[in-house]
Amino acid sequence: MPAKIIDGKKIAEKILNSLKSKIKGMKEKPGLALVLVGNNPASEIYVGSKEKAFKEVEGYCERHNLDESISEMELLNLVNQLNNNPRIHGILVQLPLPKHIDEHLIMNSISPHKDVDGFTPMNLGNLVSENTILAPATAKAVLHLIESTGIKIEGKNVVVVGRSSIVGKPAAMMLLEKNATVTICHSRTKNLAEHTKKADILVAAVGKPNLITKEMVKEGAVVIDVGINRVNGKIVGDVDFNSVKEVAGFITPVPGGVGPMTIAMLMENTLKAMELAEKMKV
Ligand code: NAD
Repeated sequence: MPAKIIDGKKIAEKILNSLKSKIKGMKEKPGLALVLVGNNPASEIYVGSKEKAFKEVEGYCERHNLDESISEMELLNLVNQLNNNPRIHGILVQLPLPKHIDEHLIMNSISPHKDVDGFTPMNLGNLVSENTILAPATAKAVLHLIESTGIKIEGKNVVVVGRSSIVGKPAAMMLLEKNATVTICHSRTKNLAEHTKKADILVAAVGKPNLITKEMVKEGAVVIDVGINRVNGKIVGDVDFNSVKEVAGFITPVPGGVGPMTIAMLMENTLKAMELAEKMKV
């Protein structure tokens, strides 16, 4: 029997609608600042989708489009202003940044309480110590999509392919916290298929089109495809969707899976950041 498709777009819409009703009843609206440096076409699309979603839920959104030539100091100054602006509860600096700017320095300069991407050392550290405050949105999206299947995570063999600090590692940590037995694979893993074949839940976060084929997937597995790759003008994931759907139990499509859920999780994090700001006023 072909896999059930996990409709990330539909699940995300439901979350966004519920955030919208929550925001409607608020006197002060959550504020999000989107910072885009340069004109990388993919980054422009990502920032545009985040802006659109945040306006749809009727939050307050400011976009800062900066020239590619901006200095590190000027960007640090902007982040500092946003850190101190009470109208802003969440700050998103779109990556990648131009080569002359130290990405770590900029990310670390964002106030952890406004870090709705969840990439600052404090938020990643809190995640590891099981005291999650603002978790990386894509990892949250992965967890949400797995939970939407109704499959119990506890005790399952989970394989996460990809070990980046913004997707693979945080997703693995969140799944570990749910009591899964987690294996992390990466570019130096030998015999990738031997690992993936054992996965009850398989998460692919690599950035290589069709890396995961039917032969690498256990019958009935939940397959979550985080990858976003452009092939001949089309967006595809890391999973060979058409063949893998013949063996998997559940599968996310690309587009329409993890992407829209990540945006919904960013919106949820911004609301959470606003609640944090309220608490800190007391
Ligand atoms: P990254 O380049 O930082 O990390 C890729 C990881 O894949 C690395 O850990 C590397 O070791 C591993 N890898 C590379 N080749 C491999 C191979 N042949 N076998 C096994 N592992 C291999 O990328 P990232 O930022 O983690 O993003 C991964 C993918 O997810 C990209 O396609 C990116 O566009 C996408 N992404 C999607 C969303 C979303 O919202 N859907 C968000 C973030 C990233």
